[in-house]
Amino acid sequence: MKYSARTLALQALRNHRGWPAAWRHAAPKKSYDVIIIGGGGHGLGAAFYLASQHGISNVAVLEKGWLGGGNTARNTMTIRDNFLYPENVRFHHAAVNAWHSLSDELNFNIMLSKRGMITILMSDRDLSDAHRMVNTTALFGAEHRVIDLDELQQRLPMIATPGRLPVVGGIYHPNVVLARHDAVAWGYARAASNLGVDIIENCEVTDILQDDRGVTGVETSLGRIQTRKLGMAVAGHGKRVAAMAGVNLPIETIPLQALVSTPIKPVLDNVLVLRGFNTYFMQSDKGELVMGAGTDPYPSYSQRGTPQIPEAIIAAILQVFPMFERMKFLRQWAGALDITYDNTPIISKTPVAGFYVDVAGSGGFKTTPLAARLHASLIANDRPDPIIEAYSLERFGSGRLILERASYGNR
Ligand SMILES: Cc1cc2nc3c(=O)[nH]c(=O)nc-3n(C[C@H](O)[C@H](O)[C@H](O)COP(=O)(O)OP(=O)(O)OC[C@H]3O[C@@H](n4cnc5c(N)ncnc54)[C@H](O)[C@@H]3O)c2cc1C
Repeated sequence: MKYSARTLALQALRNHRGWPAAWRHAAPKKSYDVIIIGGGGHGLGAAFYLASQHGISNVAVLEKGWLGGGNTARNTMTIRDNFLYPENVRFHHAAVNAWHSLSDELNFNIMLSKRGMITILMSDRDLSDAHRMVNTTALFGAEHRVIDLDELQQRLPMIATPGRLPVVGGIYHPNVVLARHDAVAWGYARAASNLGVDIIENCEVTDILQDDRGVTGVETSLGRIQTRKLGMAVAGHGKRVAAMAGVNLPIETIPLQALVSTPIKPVLDNVLVLRGFNTYFMQSDKGELVMGAGTDPYPSYSQRGTPQIPEAIIAAILQVFPMFERMKFLRQWAGALDITYDNTPIISKTPVAGFYVDVAGSGGFKTTPLAARLHASLIANDRPDPIIEAYSLERFGSGRLILERASYGNR
């Protein structure tokens, strides 16, 4: 069924009891042309683009839990392109642009919201990095602007008197957007399922099978399934799943936490990054302040939060915005991130023929539509699109790393 104002009105007349399931709950077949491991935005997106752009619809997405239950539904939704190195700027700028047509492409409202972002700078080194980032990104058509203290105060009248803090200026990023994260997983699932893709939940991949020509299939909690092409998009579990194929990925799995306050009336439209404190926050459509920071300081697969990280985040925000002092803490959570050693994505073939991987690198909600499309094209054509050539696994052998350090507090 196509979602439209007309179908919405017709369903309203039936008390919304006639909506069909958004996607088919498929049982696994004996074999598929392509299997994708991981039912988050990246995996479901890759399956959708295999079917819609490459005519390959004999595809299964295998998800060990429920769709979007991984990092796709745990992230803070910030979509930005403020990177320092040309390969990353080119990729992330194209990735931001890819979001704008996604609701139409999927016939699913992903609730894209143009918010803009302000990065508050607190040292001369941050200011000099900011000029470099603004100039580099401008070469690729991305728009960021260094702003002085007067403009910062004008845009954020609620900031504590800058004289009290070592605030030296800011960066204004007008094109930063947010998207409703689980809608992205549901939208891709529905669109892929409509094109014939099998979406199989509660199906954990426990082994990857090979012969001397490459991948032959997977062992799963629902039995063995054959395929000659296997894509992996399992943020936070990449090292373990790739190891099933004998591939040792150069990544470390580290928790990333976030928290929200109870809701208040709208006071903040931008995403705010406190560069010196490695902290960021924004106000959600429901009115909660959504707050986050950098990763935890140790590797772990834990998805629970700890008291110390929220304490540090809240202390940082209150230093700069004391007006939020009486807000109430609602809840916190964590997700496990696969961080590459150079903070840059891996979208690549592997030494095992027919086994392809999409690892976000640092934070990868922002890249979902583009990374998924290019992962699909890599699987279909067995060669990378030029924009992801630099994201090959080979860079860890050749030393051509892209040592990205422009995370600017938020993933
Ligand atoms: C707190 C937090 C805040 C974040 N904020 C941002 C942000 O603001 N902006 C940004 O760009 N990024 C952000 N990120 C990062 C972002 O969420 C992820 O990079 C992105 O969502 C990864 O998407 P994915 O589809 O690859 O992974 P996921 O959504 O995690 O999907 C992977 C799926 O694979 C499944 N899986 C794992 N192992 C197996 C197996 N053996 N068999 C079958 N299935 C398996 C998992 O169950 C999971 O559902 C944040 C992350 C966290 C945790």
